[in-house]
Amino acid sequence: MARIPREDIPWYPTVDTDLCTGDRACFDFCRNGVFEWDEANGHPIVKDPYSCVLGCDACAQVCPSGAITFPSQEELRATLSRLRREVEVQRQRREAAVNEADHADGGI
Ligand code: SF4
Repeated sequence: MARIPREDIPWYPTVDTDLCTGDRACFDFCRNGVFEWDEANGHPIVKDPYSCVLGCDACAQVCPSGAITFPSQEELRATLSRLRREVEVQRQRREAAVNEADHADGGI
């Protein structure tokens, strides 16, 4: 099955800077480089959202202020199902186009 490009999957943290107290717990916790620290404003910035591990919301759990949110796991599953269907339809269309071209060329 064809892969879904990571950039097509909207799974990454959203930080509510009004709730953030600037304790750096999320920044210190995440090892995937998703966050950058905004020194001037004292809160994290989601610098590299697509480095976030699909389904991981651990940074939201370590945040004592409830400042980090993610889509729900149900939303993620629904999004992945939809994207898989779209990728499969695209694959079938490409395959049909190749078959059509083969027939037009007299190929087998
Ligand atoms: S863990 Fe929460 S309160 Fe702490 S810096 Fe991150 S977003 Fe802000």
